[in-house]
Amino acid sequence: MPITDTYYAFPIDRQMYPVFKGKNHKHWTEAARRHGFTLIGRAVDRLHVVLECKNCGDATLKRISVVLGHNPECGNCIRKRREAAAAKVGATLLGPDPKGDRHYGTYQLKCGHVDRRQHERVEDAAAGGHALSCETCTTEQHATEAAEHGWTLIGPAARNDQSYRQYEHECGHKQDVSVGNMRAGDVNCAGCGETWTSKPSKIYLLSFMLPNVPVIKLGYSNNPTFRLRQVQLDPSETHGNLDREIDVETGHDAICLEKAMHRYIKTHRPDLIVERVHFDEHLRTTSEIYHERGRALILALIDAADNGWNPNQTDNWQQFTSLRDTDS
Ligand SMILES: [Zn+2]
Ligand SMILES: [Zn+2]
Ligand SMILES: [Zn+2]
Repeated sequence: MPITDTYYAFPIDRQMYPVFKGKNHKHWTEAARRHGFTLIGRAVDRLHVVLECKNCGDATLKRISVVLGHNPECGNCIRKRREAAAAKVGATLLGPDPKGDRHYGTYQLKCGHVDRRQHERVEDAAAGGHALSCETCTTEQHATEAAEHGWTLIGPAARNDQSYRQYEHECGHKQDVSVGNMRAGDVNCAGCGETWTSKPSKIYLLSFMLPNVPVIKLGYSNNPTFRLRQVQLDPSETHGNLDREIDVETGHDAICLEKAMHRYIKTHRPDLIVERVHFDEHLRTTSEIYHERGRALILALIDAADNGWNPNQTDNWQQFTSLRDTDS
């Protein structure tokens, strides 16, 4: 009996299937209706039926046991939902997973790279307004950041720590460094002994908008532009800006200057210090955040440093700012 040479005249889940002759039991029809489908007929073998989705109008093949027992879903509706989620994060669902895992699909990401992704992760990203990160792009970024400081990205770290990678220094020595430290250039080479404290650095002034309150950050880094990007959790919200930077001969000098400035503010203007609870959720830093009204004082301190003030020799920084005043 019952498998026939007759095929359904329309695609079912994008394929053509043969009709299976047999009775459509009433309780099947009712179960299908409860789940949002119309039972059209039987197909393939005695275990399968064809359902029409009331939502999208497409036909789907289901096992009878699924129709009766579980929660049958329309493959076409699921695909449309996944395509919409992908589009929301700038990606495109290209097809099924090449490795055959039904939880995964092949996606083209916003950057153009193609990779397999878990469908659920894509939908979560779309729902949460997150971007899909691309491993290829991230690796390229880490390599670029390392190159700025004379290092080459080699690959995964020897140690079991996701935040570390292995890098090779210009001298040929290889070692593990955390991605964050490499980005900031805060790295000492165990091979040739080059330390970041002996390399040129900068003192910077950054400004941010916290909810309802503008703040500034005084600090040192050999790359304030990177630091600016790195310190903000959501730049579209905090609108950070690099307001001032001055060159300092070595990282060691930069630390001394920066510490002297913070010490001065703490002693003479403690009212300028912003408590951590106010910026904790917006900035990746633990201190060094001041109220915007301290800008004039802090710029004067930076000027003094730029004019040769050495906190190891004198606390009197004011005489170094007057030099600049007479200049201009
Ligand atoms: Zn559907
Ligand atoms: Zn990419
Ligand atoms: Zn080295």
